Amino acid sequence: MAKNPEFIIEVNHVSKQFEDGKFALNDVSLQVKKGEFVTILGPSGCGKTTLLRCIAGFQVASSGEILLKGEDVTKTPPYKRPVNTVFQKYALFPHLNVFNNVAFGLKLKKEDPETIKKKVRQALKMANLTGYEERKVDTLSGGQQQRVAIARAIVNKPEVLLLDEPLSALDLKMRHDMQIELKELHEKLGITFIYVTHDQEEALTLSDRVVVMSEGKIQQIGTPTDIYNEPQNCFVADFIGESNILSGTMIRDRRVEFCGQEFDCIDTGFGENKPVDVVIRPEDIYVWRKEDEKRGKVAQNEEDDIEDRVPKGKFTKWYGEVQSCIFKGVHYEMRVLTPDKYEFLIQDYHEYLPGTEIGMLVKPEDIQIMKKEHYIYNYFEGEVLKNGKVWFLDAEWEVEEKQLEGFAAGDKVQVRVKFRDIDLQDYEEEGTLSGEVHFILYKGNHYQLTIRTDEGHDLYVNTDDVWDDGDRVGIVIKPKDIRLDKLEIGN
Ligand code: ATP
Repeated sequence: MAKNPEFIIEVNHVSKQFEDGKFALNDVSLQVKKGEFVTILGPSGCGKTTLLRCIAGFQVASSGEILLKGEDVTKTPPYKRPVNTVFQKYALFPHLNVFNNVAFGLKLKKEDPETIKKKVRQALKMANLTGYEERKVDTLSGGQQQRVAIARAIVNKPEVLLLDEPLSALDLKMRHDMQIELKELHEKLGITFIYVTHDQEEALTLSDRVVVMSEGKIQQIGTPTDIYNEPQNCFVADFIGESNILSGTMIRDRRVEFCGQEFDCIDTGFGENKPVDVVIRPEDIYVWRKEDEKRGKVAQNEEDDIEDRVPKGKFTKWYGEVQSCIFKGVHYEMRVLTPDKYEFLIQDYHEYLPGTEIGMLVKPEDIQIMKKEHYIYNYFEGEVLKNGKVWFLDAEWEVEEKQLEGFAAGDKVQVRVKFRDIDLQDYEEEGTLSGEVHFILYKGNHYQLTIRTDEGHDLYVNTDDVWDDGDRVGIVIKPKDIRLDKLEIGN
C-alpha cells in the first residue's frame, strides 16, 4: 500500500479474528490526518476497542496492515509506537501522589530529575492539575483522577493519543465539563486524538470526524454534520439521534413516494421506480392544527400565524392524529398516526394534545434518501435432498412439490423467502430453527427485524408484532412460502 504523507494513521483492510473464530473487525480501513480528532462510535461489542487496541499495539491484526507516519507497525509492540493510551479504568497507582503517578514512566526511563520535574509540571498544567502535585490519587474525585491519567499519557508528548471511553465512569455533569476540557486540550497540544465511545452525543460534540461501527465493520465515516444529516444506511440513521425511517419508492430524480403520497426531494441518481428507505428527522417536520388551516391560518394563538412557522410553497402536506405528547424540556415530542396507519415521531416547540388532528410537511432538503439494503426477499443458498426436502440455513425444510420441478436430489438451488413470510414464535422449540432478535428497525407502519439464527445466519423479518432486542424466537417458514430458483453459477 502506498505511503501517504498526509496521514499519520492508516488502517488498511484490517481484520481481527479471535480464537473462537469470531471476527471482531472485518476489513476495516481508516485514514487519519495529523492533528485530527477522530471518534470511533458504535454499540457495545461492535469492535471499537479492538480497533483502538490494534492501533495501540496491544492486539495484532489477523490480516491487513497499520501504518503510523508511513511506517508499517502492524506487528510493532506498543512501547515502540509513537502513541499513548488513556483507558476507561484509569489504572493509577493509589499509593503514589499525583506527581509520582505522572512521573512514573519518566523515572523508569531514568530521565534526569530536573527534566522530569519540568515535563510533569507542564503535563499537569495542560490537564488543569497545577497545585495537585502532592495529593494522593485516592483522595481525588473521578474527574480529577481522569485528568491525572491524561497528564500521564501526554507527559511524553506522544504524536497520537488514544482514548478508550475515558469519561464513562463520570457522572453526566462531570462528563460534560471534561468533554470541554478534552477539546481544549486537543487544541492546545495539536496532536492527533482517536477517541472511542458508545455515546453519540459525545462523538458529535468532540470530533472532527466520526467513524460509525457495527458488527466489526465501518458503516460510515464523516463529519458530525454529515453523519447526522446524511446517514448512509438505516443503521446509522437509527443509531444517531431519533429518526423516522420509512419504505419508499424513488419515482425519478428529485421525486419520491412514501406513505401513499409523492414528495419533492433533492436526491438524484437512484434510478426510476427504485425501492428506497426515506429518513426524516423528527425536528424537520412542520406541524399545525388541521382546523386552524380551515379557519384561516391561525395556529396556536392569535399572533402565531402558521404562515410564519410553516414554510410557504408547494409542499406535499399530509395529516394525522396526535397519539401522545411528552414535554422534553425544550420541545414536545409527539407520536402521530396517519389514517393509513403510518406513525411519525415529531418534535415541535408547540404542544398538540392527544386527539388533535394536525397537518404536516417537510422541506425537500430534509428528506434523506438511502438505497434499500434489503428488499422483500431473503436469499439463501440451498440443496435439494433425497427425501424431497431442501437444506438451507443448516436445517431441513419441507417445500411444495411444484417448487421441486426441474430439480434432482443433490442440485444446488437459490432459496427465496419473503420478509413477511417468516413467522416468529414465542417459544423457540416451536420453530424449525431458533435464534435471537438482533436488530430492530421501526419503518413507520411495521418493524423490520434482523434475526440471527443459532448457527449464525441472519434473516430479515417484517412484522407488526413488537419484539425486543435479544428476544429468543422460534423460526417457522411454511412450505408454500419457500421459492426455489436455479442457482446461477458464480452466485
Ligand atoms: P464495548 O463498548 O462493550 O467495550 P467494543 O465495541 O469496544 O464494545 P470490542 O471490545 O472491540 O467491542 O469487542 C468486539 C467483539 O470481539 C465482541 O464480541 C467481544 O466479545 C469480542 N472480543 C473482544 N476481545 C476478545 C478476546 N480476547 N477473545 C475473544 N473475543 C473477544
